[in-house]
Amino acid sequence: MTDVALDQSPARAHARAGHRLRENAAATLVGLVIVGNAAVITWLWFHGGNVTKVHTTGEDLTSIARLTGLLCAYLALIQVVLLARLPALERVVGFDRLSRWHRWNGHVCIDLLIAHVVFSVWGYALMDKLPIPKEISTMIWGGIYPGMITATVGTAMLLAVVATSLVIVRRRLSYEWWYVVHLLAYAGIALGWFHQIPTGNELVLDNTAANYWRGLYIATIAVLVVFRVFAPMSGAFRHRLRVAEVTPDGPGVVSLRITGRKLDRLRVHAGQFFLWRFLDGKRWRSAHPFSLSAAPDGRSLRITVKALGDHTARLGELRPGTRVFAEGPFGVFTERARHQEKAVLIAGGIGITPVRALLETMRGDVVVLYRAISEADVIFREELDRIAEARRAIVHYVIGDHRGDGADLLSSTHLKELVPDIEERDVFLCGPAAMTEVLEQNVRGARVPRRHIHTERFALT
Ligand SMILES: Cc1cc2nc3c(=O)[nH]c(=O)nc-3n(C[C@H](O)[C@H](O)[C@H](O)COP(=O)(O)OP(=O)(O)OC[C@H]3O[C@@H](n4cnc5c(N)ncnc54)[C@H](O)[C@@H]3O)c2cc1C
Repeated sequence: MTDVALDQSPARAHARAGHRLRENAAATLVGLVIVGNAAVITWLWFHGGNVTKVHTTGEDLTSIARLTGLLCAYLALIQVVLLARLPALERVVGFDRLSRWHRWNGHVCIDLLIAHVVFSVWGYALMDKLPIPKEISTMIWGGIYPGMITATVGTAMLLAVVATSLVIVRRRLSYEWWYVVHLLAYAGIALGWFHQIPTGNELVLDNTAANYWRGLYIATIAVLVVFRVFAPMSGAFRHRLRVAEVTPDGPGVVSLRITGRKLDRLRVHAGQFFLWRFLDGKRWRSAHPFSLSAAPDGRSLRITVKALGDHTARLGELRPGTRVFAEGPFGVFTERARHQEKAVLIAGGIGITPVRALLETMRGDVVVLYRAISEADVIFREELDRIAEARRAIVHYVIGDHRGDGADLLSSTHLKELVPDIEERDVFLCGPAAMTEVLEQNVRGARVPRRHIHTERFALT
């Protein structure tokens, strides 16, 4: 039986439909839990008399402050869960989209935090008949409202995270520094906790409500500890990964073959990535995402890395035998995302790594478009041609500098010329962030529906 016939078999279509159904059910469940808790929190606020017992402007403002405070704290917990690497969430939504949700949720959370601070100060100033600066110092230092000093420090920490996330600042900070500052957010959220039950009417006056609130925090901490600490540690112990081979694969590009125990039990698919930490003296502190550049075969894993910065430039120095700690697999850039019988895989630069792995395993009619600036930048040419021949796929090498003659390469028109039936295909698109965004627009311009476009941006922020 040929691959094409296999791809079109009713059993396969049935399996895909079942998989999609489970994904939708899981997504609906996650949505219901999130919205359900938001509804409970709003009800607690209402039940605490924040609408019925409010008579003055000061009370109106503090009532709004309470709701914004409760919802802000809740969104902060969701913020933690979104990046807690929950396998179910990761499988349904994907790491990339979760990172984007994390960014949007962070925006709303900070807006609510600012609203909470402004309405609290304003409302209490009116009720206490104090000027704003005096009210602020009374709230923080007056000893009337417990936990306010820690809450203020926590707020400052969260605002510091926002400041570092602003694009202009972000560009001046190294990723490592930006990451460390981001860890402050956990401390900020934890410090906010101390004033929530003691000062929140709806929580302090009702034991069940207070226990529910504690439950939300305990559940979040449990998720964090299980999925960010225990799961990766147990994976590391089970698989005991080590670098087996380091091979140059082009100018500034190296491939690492990584071996370990029981790799056949690793539930990993071509197209996915891990967060890799190499445990030698120089590199153990930072984990970097790299996709598999070959389909997993149960015996070893291969990644291929292009030198772009301080970490990637020195991976070629790794010695065989170095221990490796890998978190994952992550990502939904896999065959499972497919809707159509035909596919086109588009790689920009080093984005060829997961595309190379997908080509090895993807069934049916597949076309690869590999965009590179110059011939020298093309890697895996021999491997790609060999796999394409074996799988009866087509590979187009699209070479040219986008700042010169190559400006129109892979434009919507060019895409249609290369793949005339592109709108009937799933499009898998991978590369550096800016390139992926431009190519995605071109693919949309070639009339490919949004849900048939699957992207992997080589950037998590
Ligand atoms: C899902 C995914 C898969 C990837 N797969 C590959 C691959 O197969 N091959 C490959 O060569 N590259 C891949 N990358 C890109 C690679 O992770 C970055 O190029 C690398 O981390 C840069 O590190 P650096 O310190 O050398 O460069 P720097 O100059 O320090 O960073 C360059 C940019 O890379 C990003 N970055 C830096 N450090 C990290 C980190 N620890 N975690 C996340 N992002 C970081 C930041 O956006 C930064 O602006 C992938 C990225 C992602 C998100």
